[in-house]
Amino acid sequence: MTEDHLSCRCPHCEWNLDTLAPIEGATWFWRSIRTRDHRAGFRSDRLLASGVPGRPWVYALLVALSVVLVAVPVTALLAAVWLLIVGPVAIGLLLLLVAYAVRPRLGRVKKVLKGHYRLDSDRAPVLHALIGRVASAVDAPRPDIVAIDPGSWGAETDVAGIRQRRILLLGIPLLASIDRGEFVALLGHEVGHFANRDSRRRLLTWPARVTFGHISRALKPSRVSGVERDLLGLQLIVFELWRMISGLLSWLSFAVHTVIRTAAARDDRHAEQRADLLAVRAAGRASTLGLFDATAAFPLYRGAISGATRKGYAMTEWRARIAQNRSRNDEGRTAVLRQLTMRTEASLFASHPSTGRRHQFVSTLPNSHAAVRVTDAEWATIVREVAPYAETLRNELAEQYEM
Ligand SMILES: [Zn+2]
Repeated sequence: MTEDHLSCRCPHCEWNLDTLAPIEGATWFWRSIRTRDHRAGFRSDRLLASGVPGRPWVYALLVALSVVLVAVPVTALLAAVWLLIVGPVAIGLLLLLVAYAVRPRLGRVKKVLKGHYRLDSDRAPVLHALIGRVASAVDAPRPDIVAIDPGSWGAETDVAGIRQRRILLLGIPLLASIDRGEFVALLGHEVGHFANRDSRRRLLTWPARVTFGHISRALKPSRVSGVERDLLGLQLIVFELWRMISGLLSWLSFAVHTVIRTAAARDDRHAEQRADLLAVRAAGRASTLGLFDATAAFPLYRGAISGATRKGYAMTEWRARIAQNRSRNDEGRTAVLRQLTMRTEASLFASHPSTGRRHQFVSTLPNSHAAVRVTDAEWATIVREVAPYAETLRNELAEQYEM
């Protein structure tokens, strides 16, 4: 059974929209958690779309917790240096190891760019010029690095390395699915994250977001019992006791981790909404809504991106196929697709509000015009500048097909 047979399909009715299709083969426990998360995520998304402001104290709490958690490796490092000087050296080395294991990580540019293609301004001058124009329209800093992630249906930003370089990643299937105005909206949203310093927000809350997860994993008790290990007497008792205590602590850490993750994800969803406001500033309301409609209809275009395309014409043919597909979707069908995302994408752990809710929120904003316009010639050049990466994807898909 497909998802869209389960609820009322009239676009304005939300009856039964917070019910998901049953997950085949899942345990009762997992199913009930998934259902609860889903309903709560649905409610949270609905509140967000109605313009309810975020909770600044949650963010402040996450930062405070992170400061405490960063103090652990700092203290360990200082103690390690002290012990290496005055001894005992062995404990100093051990503490050094602890400090290294729990050190705060700034991410690495190389790691972010792995499997992606850097697209510098000498190879794509018109694309870079447009990104610059959008950035100044929304008062955002420009990305330091623009790269193509050939297989991605999305776009993302990241800030990595000691120099905290701003990176913008663009996916080819996404670029093949949108028009120029929607591309401006996309760029407005992405550089909007730079303007809003969302990476710094994430960085400052990162220790809180991951530490308890790491602790939970580290304390996960062994699956093999003491009896199975042929332990006897006191050894067996101590081993089983430790297995029980560490299991309990692991569960507790996991519970704390889950609470923190839902709070942080909520903060992320608000950040997405703030970035959407900058998309509207750059591209106007209509194009921003168009971008959401394109995203909601992705499942319909998936087949259009294939290896069965003439060599050298991947981008042109994909764009033509998807444009044709999009023109067949009237407002009614598009509204149903948007509505479907409200159900399938809702979760307390989701970093983004569902596409349908983002559409709903932007629809409530006053109509506005685009600050950045793209001429026919500019758009044609930009499509040409990214076309070689569509060929890369085409070749990959064709190879998979032949295998
Ligand atoms: Zn975003």
